[in-house]
Amino acid sequence: MTDGMNFQRNLVGVFGQPVAENPSEIMVEAAFRHHALPWRYLTIEVAPEGLGDAVQGARAMGFAGFNCTTPHKVAVIEHLDGLGESAALMGAVNCVVRRNNRLIGENTDGKGFLSSLRPVIDPAGRDIVIFGAGGAARAIAVELALAGARGLAIVNRGRERGVQLVRLLNTSVADAVGGLLQADFHPWPETYAVPAATDIVVNATSIGLFPNVEEELAIDYDTLSRDMVVADVIPNPPQTRLLREADGRGCRTIDGLGMLVDQGRIGIEHWTGVSPDADVMRSALAGLADH
Ligand code: NDP
Repeated sequence: MTDGMNFQRNLVGVFGQPVAENPSEIMVEAAFRHHALPWRYLTIEVAPEGLGDAVQGARAMGFAGFNCTTPHKVAVIEHLDGLGESAALMGAVNCVVRRNNRLIGENTDGKGFLSSLRPVIDPAGRDIVIFGAGGAARAIAVELALAGARGLAIVNRGRERGVQLVRLLNTSVADAVGGLLQADFHPWPETYAVPAATDIVVNATSIGLFPNVEEELAIDYDTLSRDMVVADVIPNPPQTRLLREADGRGCRTIDGLGMLVDQGRIGIEHWTGVSPDADVMRSALAGLADH
């Protein structure tokens, strides 16, 4: 063997259950290869009762961090050494980063959404309708508020989750942004009419996700107007019924693949310090759809 060879790789990955169909590894490893980074991203199934041991294992093996997906986004917090600002506000972590040997929980879901939104519209001072009040909606609503959104209308099927999110926005999040935010809960009627003054419409529910691609959002598509930006979190398939209807009415649209790639890109930046090429990551995911 020649002196100076080094077969060791820096380790990151994703912990979840189920996790086998999570495509992050494909996208992140494409970036590692493209930038010649000596890193590996592993897809690891971790049961809820094994989460504490898995985090200890990651510490022992010197992981630079890891993503957390269902069902660990909240449960992981008690095993970490600290939280970033938005993760603390949301009470959920999807990206753990080792800094000075401390494991810090971040939330990059909402940040990924913001970075796919910003090239199209700055959310500061805007009126925004968000469908959903689950994990994705919570992350998106908190980041939009931190970015200066003025009005957030949360439209959700279940009342309790919707009201809880609005309470979070109007208390801790409003405090963090100096109180300029107004969030309201709207029960989801049979057909929701988007108010004419709305600037941005976001589907943050799971409606439209494969294999239920024909499932429809209960909204009156004719209330979408061409000066609105319409975004969908669904990454698979990225061209949802909502986006097709919005596109047909002249709205600018943003798909969920952009959010997925951008949250992955932000994670890689946290772990490696390198800003990866988003096109390489997006192409790797698009390649999966061809199989
Ligand atoms: P949750 O289970 O936490 O929340 C699901 C949300 O969808 C809830 O608000 C739920 O309403 C609503 N919902 C589900 N089915 C219906 C229905 N038939 N009618 C009305 N409302 C419905 O899931 P997440 O928030 O974690 O994920 C939501 C979606 O976001 C998923 O499809 C996921 O793929 C996507 N996502 C995309 C990301 C990306 O990077 N592009 C990142 C993270 C998530 P209720 O409260 O009433 O049950």
